[in-house]
Amino acid sequence: MKIPNGHEVIQLFEQFSPKGLAMEGDKIGLQIGRLNKKVERIMIALDVLENVIDEAIEKNVQLIIAHHPIIYRPLKNLLTDTVQGKMIEKILKHDIAVYAAHTNLDVAKGGVNDLLANALGLEDAEVLVPTFDTKLKKLVVFVPASHAEVIRKVLGNAGAGFIGNYSHCSFSANGTGRFVPGENTNPFVGEAGRLEEVEEVRIETIVPEPLLKKTITAMIKAHPYEEVAYDVYPLENKGEVLGLGRIGKVHEMTLGEFAEKVKLALEVSTVRVVGDLSTKIKKVAVLGGDGNKYFMNAKFQGADVYVTGDIYYHTAHDAAMQGLNMIDPGHNVEKVMKKGLTATLQKMCQETGYTVEIFPSEVNTDPFQFV
Ligand SMILES: [Zn+2]
Repeated sequence: MKIPNGHEVIQLFEQFSPKGLAMEGDKIGLQIGRLNKKVERIMIALDVLENVIDEAIEKNVQLIIAHHPIIYRPLKNLLTDTVQGKMIEKILKHDIAVYAAHTNLDVAKGGVNDLLANALGLEDAEVLVPTFDTKLKKLVVFVPASHAEVIRKVLGNAGAGFIGNYSHCSFSANGTGRFVPGENTNPFVGEAGRLEEVEEVRIETIVPEPLLKKTITAMIKAHPYEEVAYDVYPLENKGEVLGLGRIGKVHEMTLGEFAEKVKLALEVSTVRVVGDLSTKIKKVAVLGGDGNKYFMNAKFQGADVYVTGDIYYHTAHDAAMQGLNMIDPGHNVEKVMKKGLTATLQKMCQETGYTVEIFPSEVNTDPFQFV
């Protein structure tokens, strides 16, 4: 076990929530501070407000990972007698790094939308608004027969060979590898300057592009040869579709009963509801944050009710006219990411052998109260 630096933690985090999943123009990644330092305490936050920064200082945090970017519109100046300037000054003075994972965390598997779908108990949840089609690569590697099994295992553990619900999928064929080790080599088999023939196995598997680098690195590390022969082919096969929102099924109940369930599951005291409370609900769409512009996706995919935040008056009218029920539990329900992400990152750090304390911010950042 070791104390990681900021880069190592973020590298791990981005395997879970790659930057490439973010919507165009989103403000993500390291926003304030530096990562080239030891990180012993990480706080997971929904919003970075002044009281959240105070909490981070008090708890001696070196890194805040937040869902909502602290800097969204470009700064024209940085004046320390403004609210935002003062906040940034405080962050810098205490050498805290602030990293934002916004729409990439919405889209990521196990991210905000999956956490919301889980909280609502959606079964067979699928993506509501596809935004990202994972490209697939074919990876072929040649390995001496003695090491074929190890390499197959390493490839599978790195995430290669996922087809549907099957993991560690690969195909192997035996053949003969030939090579002449050059001068100054230290070959695993044979000797410099002499043609060598070795019984080798050709292992082929499929790898999602985001995992390719990691897979090849792990494969080379486990391979006995000095120079590993491998090929990467682009594929036309359709990869896994990722995106915003989720749609799935619940046990049939009325809209009124489901609204109560939403309150309980997402820990809010009130929700705004559009539709007849006695309507039967079975198919539920959910989208974290402001999902106004996606209500027709929910309608087209046959949702009985669409759960999202920040619903506008006119969106509510349009949805009602289309016969789509809606529930608005508020934007702040994205707070589920605090505990969810804490658990995910804790597990990843543990498996990697990093000693680091990760915890959710305890500050309530909902600007609204109901009186
Ligand atoms: Zn949001």
